[in-house]
Amino acid sequence: MADTLLKVSGLKVAYGGIQAVKGVSLEVRQGELVSLIGANGAGKTTTLKAITGLQPVGSGEIEFMGRNIKGQGAWDLVKQGLVMVPEGRGTFTRMTITENLQMGAFTRTDKEIDADLEKVFGIFPRLRERRNQLAGTMSGGEQQMLAMGRALMARPKVLLMDEPSMGLSPIMVDKIFEVVNDIHQQGTTVLLVEQNASRALQLATRGYVMESGEVTMSGEASALLNDPKVRAAYLGE
Ligand code: ATP
Repeated sequence: MADTLLKVSGLKVAYGGIQAVKGVSLEVRQGELVSLIGANGAGKTTTLKAITGLQPVGSGEIEFMGRNIKGQGAWDLVKQGLVMVPEGRGTFTRMTITENLQMGAFTRTDKEIDADLEKVFGIFPRLRERRNQLAGTMSGGEQQMLAMGRALMARPKVLLMDEPSMGLSPIMVDKIFEVVNDIHQQGTTVLLVEQNASRALQLATRGYVMESGEVTMSGEASALLNDPKVRAAYLGE
């Protein structure tokens, strides 16, 4: 399909002798928010790491904007617009909020970085308030906002997010999902990995369910939300 930005076919990834991802295929089209859900250890994080060049691929193909990107390093991929917000945030704790955000633009050479910083502060007023504070002194939710803001500073064509709601208070979870939705509504294409299946599917265009290293179900997010198997296994019914 012409508007497919990211296409993963038959992806296999192993850690030593352990096959963590066993032939995953998925695609993300321009303007979509695609949610990848599944239990602990299903292989979601490993799939994202393989796509973004952080984990070697065993076999399979990964295409980004029609080009084969398998084996390319994370730096090159960020420069092309494939940007991840990692699980656990990975902020630079001894740098300020502003410095962290500027680091997000490290592959850019254009002159609109300061304007984008203002845009990110517009999305996250809390980050503007705290812009001179060291990232390590921020709360978990604030650090998640910072990690998302830093990724936006790279001007992603596809933004991959690994469990942004993990470990946050219910109010902060609401806030983070609201922002994920806003980022998508404002035109960014998103691949969202979440254990909070209900929230992730409510926001999504389409979804994939992973179990033991394989995609076992996929389809329109609304259809998955209403599927009895998904409801029983992932929505606590
Ligand atoms: P979670 O939601 O708990 O993060 P996940 O779906 O993201 O789960 P992965 O983190 O991708 O799952 O893990 C898939 C499998 O690979 C698990 O069995 C895990 O123990 C294993 N695994 C992950 N990272 C490593 C590693 N660095 N070395 C060895 N095995 C690993």
